[in-house]
Amino acid sequence: MICREEDSYMDGYRFLELKAELLVDGIRATPEALEEVGKKYKEQNHGLFGWDFEDHSDILLPDDFVLPDRTVVQFRKNSRSPYQVIKKRNNLILSNGCGEICEVSWIPRPAYYSTETTVGHKMVKIGQIGGEDCLFFCYQNYCSHFSKHEQCLFCNLVSTSDTYHSVLKRKDKEDIGEVAKAAFSEGNVRHVLLTGGCFNHEKEIELVSDILKSIRKHTGLDRVPGTILPSPAKGEDDIRKYYDTGIKAIGFSMEIWDDKLYKAICPGKAKDVTHDTFLRSMETAVRIFGPGNVFAVFVMGLEPRKTFLEGVGTITGLGANVVPFVWSPNPGSSLEGHRAPTSKWFTETILEASEIVYQAKVPAGTENHCYRCDGNSLLHDALRLKGIE
Ligand code: SF4
Repeated sequence: MICREEDSYMDGYRFLELKAELLVDGIRATPEALEEVGKKYKEQNHGLFGWDFEDHSDILLPDDFVLPDRTVVQFRKNSRSPYQVIKKRNNLILSNGCGEICEVSWIPRPAYYSTETTVGHKMVKIGQIGGEDCLFFCYQNYCSHFSKHEQCLFCNLVSTSDTYHSVLKRKDKEDIGEVAKAAFSEGNVRHVLLTGGCFNHEKEIELVSDILKSIRKHTGLDRVPGTILPSPAKGEDDIRKYYDTGIKAIGFSMEIWDDKLYKAICPGKAKDVTHDTFLRSMETAVRIFGPGNVFAVFVMGLEPRKTFLEGVGTITGLGANVVPFVWSPNPGSSLEGHRAPTSKWFTETILEASEIVYQAKVPAGTENHCYRCDGNSLLHDALRLKGIE
């Protein structure tokens, strides 16, 4: 490998560039560095997708870790990565084969991970913490596009579930409420993220409404800070029903901005929801949920910079925010074994995107989703460098 000089990092962007490198190249860790993962530190539980380069059903790995400037980075196992975490005098040190880079920290394991609900279900199999503060519930680990072989090319939902069996596929609403109470009362959780695969609209709205009722009952929250990422909610009626569930924000997984690439990469979803429908839904959602409380979710790295940035411009022009995940060619997806763009591409593109978002002056929406949730996106980190947290 070619060793990187410290002064080759762009001024002020060292940890943003480092995070991009870690997401694109993956990471390893020595057995000593991993010895307290799953005990003192939070382990991966594969609530929905797997983001590692390799499956690892025989070993517990951290979900994510924190850099010295508090940047949260998703742990993406790659045994060929130059990046490695080692343990040295009780500290965790990130190295790259050329030398030590910085100290890192695993994230503490929530106490509720070791407890059960009233009916005896392990709480960790129901809801997991993303990053440091985001309580994640996947209310249905199922997507109808797989049965027709029309799943999104980057998606490994089925293979992840088959490999790890680490979560309950269907979760009871009372269990979800109990987990929310336990997680919020520990003091670190600031918001929730709820999602499922793609299924019948009416049933999904009813289910989400019941889940939110249970979360509100158990936590005492009037409206719940966080985001619902449902199957694409299309009409005003649907969107209003989601608002009435008591969640504060809604997200739309558009995945790819370029329309032709969207149809090619997400064949099943593109048949169900066109780009125009997404945009109209987002306009409506901004009216109902308020500016900044609507998110468009993209998979970044599967389309040209130009079209991605056009998408960021249009979405923020509507008053919505953008969450672009850094694509990983993960095992079990149709694109397994492919390569993502370079980390330089991701860094430069996200810096341009952050300037577009900054200029659009959309409220940041960080009450519902923030940089501490996001080990696998760079946008919050780039915006933080502009003073937006
Ligand atoms: S819509 Fe696409 S990304 Fe979402 S679960 Fe289905 S196949 Fe996966």
